Amino acid sequence: MKKLIFPLASLVFISLANIAQAESIPQTVEQQKQVAGFYQQNLGNVQITALLDGTNFMSPKLFKDIPQAKVTEILKKYHADQAKGIQTSVNAFLVNNGTNLTLVDSGTADCFGAHLGSVVKNLKASGYAPEQVNTILLTHLHPDHSCGISKNGVANFPNATVYVSEAEANYWLDPMQLKSIPKDKQANYAGTVEKIKTALEPYQAKKRFKTFKLGDKVNGFEVIQTAGHTPGHYSYKLKTADQDVVFIGDIVHSHTVQFDRPETAIDYDIDPKTAVQTRLKQFADYAKNGQLIAAPHLPFPGIGYIHSNGKDSYQWIPVHFKD
Ligand SMILES: [Zn+2]
Repeated sequence: MKKLIFPLASLVFISLANIAQAESIPQTVEQQKQVAGFYQQNLGNVQITALLDGTNFMSPKLFKDIPQAKVTEILKKYHADQAKGIQTSVNAFLVNNGTNLTLVDSGTADCFGAHLGSVVKNLKASGYAPEQVNTILLTHLHPDHSCGISKNGVANFPNATVYVSEAEANYWLDPMQLKSIPKDKQANYAGTVEKIKTALEPYQAKKRFKTFKLGDKVNGFEVIQTAGHTPGHYSYKLKTADQDVVFIGDIVHSHTVQFDRPETAIDYDIDPKTAVQTRLKQFADYAKNGQLIAAPHLPFPGIGYIHSNGKDSYQWIPVHFKD
């Protein structure tokens, strides 16, 4: 065996090179943009692509009828008590069943700022084109679910028909509704209506905006009445050759406080009491049935299961990342 003999000069060169390399690593580094925010999961004959719109931060004070000390305690347990607020994901879901390409909820486009609005970008990154989407199912019309269908008055999904429940459309689009809104909430309501109308306009112009009622089926999706958060809020259930999946919408906004204490409403709920009843009923059913769910405000990709801890307390079980 040959002995490896390095001349002294080359040793000096190697050690100097190592020092140079070490010095080129900056002491503080800015966090780069993460990889594209999409996550695909196949369920039998159906492919679901979770699309990240972005990450938001919400105030812990938005939780209702719960002592702030309890909120803080739960957030600490989950390491979720950040100075900026509670990190909250905005997700949408693309469903390919071989016949239809359906988008469930659509994110925010530019309704809330540049930290959100990435659904279209992430849809393209996942290998699809916006023109391929032929159906959009909105769980409700809040702008973080509906704004993403358009940008600057132009449809983001020019070949899609948009569906929402009749009750939801009436609540936001019937001009007579304003009178029934409490005075102190009218300005907020009117501002939200403007955003919704602007998003829907290009679809309505082409007669591509439709409503459904309880008992209807929309392109193979069963509709589940889950009112409370908004008056016409619906979830969507899809059967597949594997396990079924329910796109739950905003029956829950927090994988921490509202799983530990599901009786806790949030300020975004239009009818907090009914929203809580809906969550308690749906959580109990989904936990009992081991139901796979997809949620717009649970940590990306927002796909997983609800586990019952007993005594009306639950735990979020996210899917395991699989490449
Ligand atoms: Zn909402």
